[in-house]
Amino acid sequence: MIRTKNHYRPSRPVIDALQDAGHGLCDACLVMAVGKTKNDAITPARRLCKEGTAVSHGGTCNGCGKSRIITQLVKSKPQKAPITPAAPTELSLNINQLDELRRELIIHLNKLDPANPRDGFAKRVGQLRNTGQLSPTIAALMLTHGAYRNEMYYTPFKPCSPEIGILNQITSYLRTYLEEAKQKVSDTGMTNHAH
Ligand SMILES: [Zn+2]
Repeated sequence: MIRTKNHYRPSRPVIDALQDAGHGLCDACLVMAVGKTKNDAITPARRLCKEGTAVSHGGTCNGCGKSRIITQLVKSKPQKAPITPAAPTELSLNINQLDELRRELIIHLNKLDPANPRDGFAKRVGQLRNTGQLSPTIAALMLTHGAYRNEMYYTPFKPCSPEIGILNQITSYLRTYLEEAKQKVSDTGMTNHAH
């Protein structure tokens, strides 16, 4: 005699059959769909109902079309994307980094405008922007950089990640600008030497 009591009947074939069946199958159709013994279909189906993976209720069987008690897979609810807090961005910026670029900017301003080295940074940038020696974009970046530098220098102000992100971009933009300006000066220098 075959002992079937402890025989585990896998759920997978039943789940597959129920998935194919859409809105549910009566027991007879489920057995046919699974294609194995009655117990191989019904035992796992009852287990799925206990687990909450499937439900049993009155309805129209998807197989025979009759009104029967049918077993149907519980529609898996669309899983909400887990709300993961934005990865903490490890951005840091200290006043020394801002000061370092500021010194380079001042050296550059001195070259553009040797006449007024004692005027404030913002005032000089504004004047050079008005005379067209600095583009409005570069002036805006310099003024923003300078304003944040001053806040950090004179107050306990600490920029947060979005501000640091922007300041890092400004720094990169301004460094490129300074490099290109130096390049232009050295090109001009070479041209002048050639003449
Ligand atoms: Zn049926």
